Amino acid sequence: MKKHNYSAGPCILPQEVFEKSAQAVLNFNNSGLSILEISHRSKDFVAVMDEARALVLELLGLEGKGYQALFLQGGASLEFLMVPNNLMKVNGKAAYLDTGTWANNAIKEAKLFGETLIVASSKEENYSHIPKEFTIPVDADYFHCTSNNTIFGTQMKSFPKTNVPVVCDMSSDIFSRSLDFSQFDLIYAGAQKNMGAAGTTLVVVKEEILGKSGRAIPSILDYEKHIKAESMYNTPAVFAVYTCLLTLQWLKNQGGIPTIEKINEAKAALLYNEIDRNPLFIGTANVEDRSNMNATFLLVNPEHQETFDKMWKEAGISGLPGHRSVGGYRASMYNALPLESVQVLVDVMKKLEEVII
Ligand code: PMP
Repeated sequence: MKKHNYSAGPCILPQEVFEKSAQAVLNFNNSGLSILEISHRSKDFVAVMDEARALVLELLGLEGKGYQALFLQGGASLEFLMVPNNLMKVNGKAAYLDTGTWANNAIKEAKLFGETLIVASSKEENYSHIPKEFTIPVDADYFHCTSNNTIFGTQMKSFPKTNVPVVCDMSSDIFSRSLDFSQFDLIYAGAQKNMGAAGTTLVVVKEEILGKSGRAIPSILDYEKHIKAESMYNTPAVFAVYTCLLTLQWLKNQGGIPTIEKINEAKAALLYNEIDRNPLFIGTANVEDRSNMNATFLLVNPEHQETFDKMWKEAGISGLPGHRSVGGYRASMYNALPLESVQVLVDVMKKLEEVII
């Protein structure tokens, strides 16, 4: 039976990425060797790393603009501390926007390094919206925000104009929509949503912001060392990086971000229209801040849960329950999820209405 995978991450990737990466495990580039057994310094893998790094900058429109792309490890969670370690000056301060659990985790790590100012927070309203009125101090070393809040289903539709470097955690919406990516000085994202297998983290950084913190930075946490080593300071996550390359190639062949953005908008519109139309469901995020990647919603009457759960499971849907900290439902509609899968979910929601009402 065809599966419709709504998992929040790791999540669905393009079918051709599954097929090509499976083939590479058996015989990589017709070398007679598995990608799992070759040296990361081999010509074939260095070519993978180089192409993946170049494709990232090409797809984001950042080529020739002073940025470097790195494939690191430790997840987005390690970036929570690498960012302050590299960017927060000794006795300096950083400004953070608190829009959810992950933003909060980033704040916790930054506090270990110095003054961490929360410029605004939607915590009191259970992170159902993105705060819009806030001021970023002109003397902050950087401003940090989370473009898409995977757990609460909210997404920043615009970003503040500021003279301080802007750092953005794009773990759950990277490569999903067109933005002027040059407004960011550092972008990071765990691979396991729109990019590839879990195990590597993309960091895109404008080189000119580095080397100014005056702090001792352990080598493995130092962006400058990773840049100098061309993202091979230590053994990279070879297989995960390869899956990223395959996904980036797939995205480019689709027409890049502008094409996938239109499909993502169509998927989100289809589902949110049903959530708003169907009297049995209610969305949890403020309409203007709704995420096109993670749609969070509840059953108005929790008594219908058993019936609804049985129906979507029978339709081949998986990964629909909300994050364990918030409950309800969360439909994650990452780049590789086809529109047809969203139609299957919408049809189940309509069918529930027929059964109940
Ligand atoms: N930031 C965001 C927005 C996320 O969604 C996640 C994971 N779901 C993280 C950070 C943490 O990522 P990791 O597990 O790669 O450390």
